[in-house]
Amino acid sequence: MEIGFIGLGKMGFPMARRLIEAGHQLTVFDTREEAVEALLALGAQAASSPKAVADRTETVMASLPSLQASLEVATGQDGVIEGERVRRFVDLSTVGSRMAVRIFDLLKQRNIVQIDSPVSGGVGGAEKGTLAVMVSGPRTEFEAVRPALAVIGKLFFIGEKPGSGQTMKLANNFLSATAMVATSEAVVMGVKAGLDPKIMIDVINAGSGMNTASRDKFPRSVLPRSFDFGFATGLMVKDVRLALEEMKQLGLSMEVAEAVARLWEVVIREEGAESDFTAAIKPIEKQAGVIVGGSGGAIAK
Ligand code: NAD
Repeated sequence: MEIGFIGLGKMGFPMARRLIEAGHQLTVFDTREEAVEALLALGAQAASSPKAVADRTETVMASLPSLQASLEVATGQDGVIEGERVRRFVDLSTVGSRMAVRIFDLLKQRNIVQIDSPVSGGVGGAEKGTLAVMVSGPRTEFEAVRPALAVIGKLFFIGEKPGSGQTMKLANNFLSATAMVATSEAVVMGVKAGLDPKIMIDVINAGSGMNTASRDKFPRSVLPRSFDFGFATGLMVKDVRLALEEMKQLGLSMEVAEAVARLWEVVIREEGAESDFTAAIKPIEKQAGVIVGGSGGAIAK
């Protein structure tokens, strides 16, 4: 299948690579030239703008870092909306349901179908093709892209209503964000009391507290203090803010979500948007006066 792919970052690059390896012909675009060059070396063709991608392919996928980037790439000047061949725009980014619907409506005016398709499972999942892919939009259009999307992960059809995939993704990421900060607080509490954080994580993972942070993030990026899991704090905060917005739009006031959101605002203020989201433990450590992990294990300051 001929596929356009825009946004070749931490997630987009491995997804695009898997599509090439599965035999699809890719036309790619990214504002970073080095990302494009790396894909050309794997057999993709380059285009000079989102419009140029959409001039050449019926199906255009995108994996972009912000709501504004998705809106501009899809509907802005020189955007996908101006393309001559394009029939469907598959957005793999997390943009929230309101933005997804806005893009759906704008593209619809040009007979282009927006297919909402946010993903979960991180860079590792993108590399292995094991992402959870949450698709919403017209069923027939989903069927048209099913073989290509199956290359990047396990497909879940959430519904025909535009934006439903985004609501699903935000529910998931709210839980992931909560697991990260809640596990950080639990482990910092233990370390402050003199417990070994490695033993704590082993116990949690054998017990009922096990979650994605204790299972994946702590062993790989927090205990070794490498803070390199591959998801930026700025992106996590975007998702948490979007989840809160979604809840408010639905007339809901949710206590855990609000506490978790407050904590992530501290993380982005103190660690910066570019930090890895596993650095969320650092402000919690700072307040407690302990450091978790590293070569010395638990170090009381
Ligand atoms: P990233 O910042 O690594 O990649 C984004 C890419 O888009 C970059 O290569 C950037 O140069 C490019 N880009 C930005 N603006 C552009 C534009 N106007 N035109 C063309 N290219 C442009 O981000 P990422 O971590 O790959 O995340 C991408 C999306 O996937 C986000 O919506 C994120 O929330 C979501 N996501 C990320 C992860 C993860 O673990 N990193 C997991 C699930 C979902």
